[in-house]
Amino acid sequence: MAQTAQDVLRQIHEDGIELIDLKFVDLHGKWQHLTVCRDLIDEASFSDGVAFDGSSIRGWKAINESDMAMVPDPNTAWIDPFYSHKTLSLICSIQEPRSGKPYGRCPRALAQKALNYLGSTGIADTAYFGPEPEFFVFDDVRYSSGSGSSFYSVDSVEAPWNSSRLEEGGNLAYKIQLKEGYFPVAPNDTLQDMRTEMLLTMGSLGVPIEKQHHEVATAQHELGIKFAELISAADNVMIYKYVVRNVARKYGKTATFMPKPVFADNGSGMHVHQSLWRGGNPLFFGEGTYANLSQTARWYIGGLLKHAPSFLAFTNPTTNSYKRLVPGFEAPVNLVYSQGNRSAAVRIPLTGPSPKAKRLEFRSGDALSNPYLGFAAMLMAGIDGIKNQIDPGDGTDVDLFELSPEELARISTVPASLNGALEALDADKDYLLAGGVFTEDFINNWITLKYEEVQQLRQRPHPHEFVMYYAA
Ligand code: GLU
Ligand code: MG
Ligand code: MG
Repeated sequence: MAQTAQDVLRQIHEDGIELIDLKFVDLHGKWQHLTVCRDLIDEASFSDGVAFDGSSIRGWKAINESDMAMVPDPNTAWIDPFYSHKTLSLICSIQEPRSGKPYGRCPRALAQKALNYLGSTGIADTAYFGPEPEFFVFDDVRYSSGSGSSFYSVDSVEAPWNSSRLEEGGNLAYKIQLKEGYFPVAPNDTLQDMRTEMLLTMGSLGVPIEKQHHEVATAQHELGIKFAELISAADNVMIYKYVVRNVARKYGKTATFMPKPVFADNGSGMHVHQSLWRGGNPLFFGEGTYANLSQTARWYIGGLLKHAPSFLAFTNPTTNSYKRLVPGFEAPVNLVYSQGNRSAAVRIPLTGPSPKAKRLEFRSGDALSNPYLGFAAMLMAGIDGIKNQIDPGDGTDVDLFELSPEELARISTVPASLNGALEALDADKDYLLAGGVFTEDFINNWITLKYEEVQQLRQRPHPHEFVMYYAA
């Protein structure tokens, strides 16, 4: 049930809360926060917001116009489990302090605009999103004893399990081999308790939890959460990352959502399940068609496949994202859709006869995506597909990783680099500008910020260049 400002104020009083931690997402998908004493929060805080200086947030306002207000969402209250003083956490959106209008560069406010736009088209009133973030956990050198680290250097140029390197210090007893983590039980799986603590902590904060497991790569993990309405689903991704990082730290480990931290092993994705509903009825089910997809679902897929090169600038927003998007590691690079086939960018999961379960899964994105921006961009692509009746063609059920180069040449693929995605975004943005959801200002600012990252990497010698060229 929806919580009101009064409910939260009552909870602050009844639970003896000392402090309120106001969290908001920046452009890059990182939470920033301000902690205030409980007397500073009253009913007006939930409409007028709490003032702060937004000038030092990368990509937001200039110093001469830095006043901003964060407005807490009363539905997002939970006691922060990582603070020793009793602190109530609230997720905020950002608004202009004088006009009270949503700030145009606030990702959470932008996601709300995308939902308002969806409603205004009459296509649907609800968008369900089910994200699946993956992550790696490594020993944290700050906590390890120095000699006990069992993990290899992440910049190895060769997959260590193929290497004949002998370990320094010798192996005094059987040691679990690399690539043995997925799916065997303990002792192969060494982080069962840590993942359970992550999962249950998320659950205690209101995230609908489902499962946890080791993933395919060495040191890679995933926690399963249930789908939710778009903004809650994005809030849940933020909580997920916060809990994973903080519980890992408690265990003397460090977690990363970097898409490709280890060469020659699987990377970390963030697949996103999606479906539209109107008046409580699912819109993606169609009896007896390919994968039981409705015409609406087919057009939504058409929009996703058409605009993917452009919106990957939001769903795969880092230079490292494109090191994951290579064939052979379960990360889809081909812009096709398929029933069950995990090598397609859009997969239609095999679901039972219930129309409610019918959904599609976009598999190319990763967890460095700011979820509010990534979800909004995919939704806008899908809406554009429906409005313009974009036909996605036939489903592709062959294993795309097995196709010959000639066959593959006929299939369009994702951009090969962040630079390529930014160019595609610049060339294809009208679908994002519809309804004033993404503005020219927002997109141009994004391209400028992200292009800086491209340049930073381009200007630095890469370790592998030394392997190839040092003695050449
Ligand atoms: N790690 C794979 C990826 O990069 C996905 C594995 C899975 O299907 O869960 O997308
Ligand atoms: Mg997975
Ligand atoms: Mg999946």
